[in-house]
Parts: sequence; C-alpha cells; structure tokens
Amino acid sequence: MRAVAVVGAGVLGAAVAWNLARRGLRVVVVEREPVPAAGASGASFARATAFGRAPRAYFELRHAGLRTLHRLRETGVPGFHPCPSLVWSRDDPALADTVATARHQGYRACHGPCAGFPVPAGPGRAVPAARAAYLPAEGWVDLPAMADWMLARARRFGADIRFGARAVDIRTGADGAVRALVLADGGAVAADTVVNAAGAGADRVARLVGGPLALAPSAGLLAEVPLARELDAMLLAPDISIRPAGAGAALLRSDAIDSRLGAAPAADLAAEAAAELLERAAAVLPELAGARPTAARVGVRAFPADGYPSVGFLSGVPGYYEAVTHSGATLGPLLGRLAAEEIASGHRSRLLAPYTPDRFGGSAVPDQGAGIAPAHT
Ligand SMILES: Cc1cc2nc3c(=O)[nH]c(=O)nc-3n(C[C@H](O)[C@H](O)[C@H](O)COP(=O)(O)OP(=O)(O)OC[C@H]3O[C@@H](n4cnc5c(N)ncnc54)[C@H](O)[C@@H]3O)c2cc1C
Repeated sequence: MRAVAVVGAGVLGAAVAWNLARRGLRVVVVEREPVPAAGASGASFARATAFGRAPRAYFELRHAGLRTLHRLRETGVPGFHPCPSLVWSRDDPALADTVATARHQGYRACHGPCAGFPVPAGPGRAVPAARAAYLPAEGWVDLPAMADWMLARARRFGADIRFGARAVDIRTGADGAVRALVLADGGAVAADTVVNAAGAGADRVARLVGGPLALAPSAGLLAEVPLARELDAMLLAPDISIRPAGAGAALLRSDAIDSRLGAAPAADLAAEAAAELLERAAAVLPELAGARPTAARVGVRAFPADGYPSVGFLSGVPGYYEAVTHSGATLGPLLGRLAAEEIASGHRSRLLAPYTPDRFGGSAVPDQGAGIAPAHT
C-alpha cells in the first residue's frame, strides 16, 4: 500500500490527509504543535474570495476554491460560512472596472447593491452602499473547525495523526527517492511520499531535500471585538476589513497596519495597533465606537516569494510533494483534493499547471497567461 507522510496539520495538511485517506492510502500526519491549525490557519482573516485583479489562471483557481467551499458545506463539512462582501476603494472607477472584469469571468459581482440582495445594515456614511462592490457569493472559513473535522475523518479512514511531532529530516534512497520522514524524537515514518504542508515553515522542510522553495512571509494582526448582533456582511474598506466571527463578535484587520508590523511585532506594538484597528473599524461601523478588543493575535502568512501557490512534485526528488500557499482559506480544501488526486493517481489538474515547485529553481514566475499583478487578502 502507498504510504504518505504529511508535514503540518493546518487546513492544507488536513485537506490533503483527508482526501488521501479516503482514497485508501496509508497516511501519517505529523504536526509539531499540540493542536491542529496552530499556524496561519489559527490566525487568519479567512475570507474566501476570488475577487481582485489577478491573472486569469489564478482567478480560475480561486473561483474553483470558492465553489469547492460551497459544495463541501452542502455535503455537511463544517467551517464555511457564506456571507456577502462589500468592498470599497479610493479609486472608484478602478473598482467598477474590476467588477466588470469579474462579471465577465462569471463571478457574481455588482457595483452598488445587487438586485434581489438586501443592503447590509450598519455601515456608516463614510462607506456608501452605492459605491461598494457587492459580492454575494463569498464567505469566511472557520479554519480550525474545518481542519479538525478533516483530520477526524482522515483518522476514521485509518490515518495516524501525531501532535507534538516535529519533522527534522527526509530520508532518501540511493535512487534519490523518498523513503522516510525523520522526527525530532529520533523516530521515523516510512513513506514513499512526503507532503510538505508546513506553512511558514515549509521552506525549511523543502531545504531537507535541496528544494528551492522561497517564501516571503508577512505578519498580520487580527483583533476580535464584541458586537451585539451577528454581522450580515464582510466590510472591506481601504483602511480596515471587518468580518463576522460567529455570534456576538467581529474580526478586524488592516493592510495599512500590517505593513508597519514587520515579521514578528513586539507585544506592546501589537496592543497599540489593536486600538488603532478599533478606531478605524468604528469609522466604517459606528456601532463599534467605544468597544474594546477581546483578543488580538498575530498570524504569519506563508507567501511563496512570487505570491502564488507551490503545489506538486519536485522533479529530481521522487516522492517529495509541496503544498504551500497563501489564500489557503479560499484555496486549501480545493488544493488538498487536487494534491491527493495527483499523489494517488498521477493525474495533475490543469488548474495546478502554473504552480509547479520547480519554478523556484529558475525565474520564479509562473506562466499563467495575461500578467496582471495579483491581489491577495
Ligand atoms: C493575518 C492573516 C490573514 C489571512 N487572511 C486570509 C484571507 O482573508 N483569505 C484567505 O484565503 N487566506 C488568508 N490567509 C492565509 C491562510 O490563512 C493560509 O493560507 C492558510 O491558513 C495556510 O494553511 P496551511 O495549512 O498551509 O498552513 P498553516 O496553517 O500555517 O499550517 C502549517 C502547519 O505546519 C506545522 N509545521 C511547520 N513545520 C513543521 C515541522 N517541521 N514538523 C511538523 N509540523 C510543522 C505548523 O505548526 C503548522 O501547524 C491569511 C493568513 C494570515 C496570517
């Protein structure tokens, strides 16, 4: 029987493990932390979207990711919360243009409220509904809940999920092919395939087989605030993003603040920035005036250096498979399924074609057709 070791129990590792295990492969997941989703998956804004300027191939991948989330929800997989997005921009004509392109590509988007969809209550005068891009088919993902569920299902199919197990080496044979994953406690997991789903730690795991993966990690601050009602939309203004976070809470983040944070912000800087997040949020959602954050945390985005996913086998090291991406709330469940399909059957989806890990050994620019700078959340 084929044996696969998966490094990392974030949403991507969990999705790969679930899809492999239900195909009947022998799966061992090793996670260095004591719980799942301890990395970016546990500290993510987690908006599922395919909206924004991007090359056609990347738009299609994200659109397929969003459709996958809707489908999983219909079949009872927990974690995805459908919720419309309202997006504002300082450059309204450019926003209208992005909406027109999105509609042309088959994405549900309107400039101004879409017919048949209620205008969400709450946003103040600073963000008029008539100037918003209205995206009714989006949502947010409770990534820990989804990862937890996928790992539990994988276990039911026989997968062995190990927490507190850090991968420190990948053993290869004389032919260069993967033989085993070596753990920090000196143990080893025999495997013909190792999946690197280690998020922000993935470049270190890649180095174990001489892989060229390059990451450009960036920190993001999230603050949770109490809210007397459940927010019925995600509100994305130029200086602040607000989304529901379950009953009675909202989650806040800001590109402007994140760009000042650096890779590992000190606690006092994060606390100061959380207060600023609230001030910005109250300008968009006046009912937040005077609220205090109940929790603030910093997550690290595992950006491959060119901004796009790195998913596939690395040529030259048979059995080493990379599954690393930003936008993993949108893409994780889809990439997990496509990766498992490729590992189990050898079939590589056309959606993955531009994102081979080999590209980091060269120019690190995936060939995706028309080149437009990517927009990332
Ligand atoms: C602030 C912020 C905002 C974001 N906003 C969005 C958004 O709005 N929309 C969106 O789609 N995405 C967003 N993302 C990105 C998304 O959260 C990530 O792409 C996704 O969570 C990545 O999942 P993962 O499983 O690849 O990585 P992770 O969740 O980081 O999991 C990797 C796991 O590997 C483990 N690990 C690492 N090295 C080893 C080792 N040697 N041995 C064993 N285990 C190891 C880690 O402990 C970790 O648990 C955001 C991320 C952040 C940080």
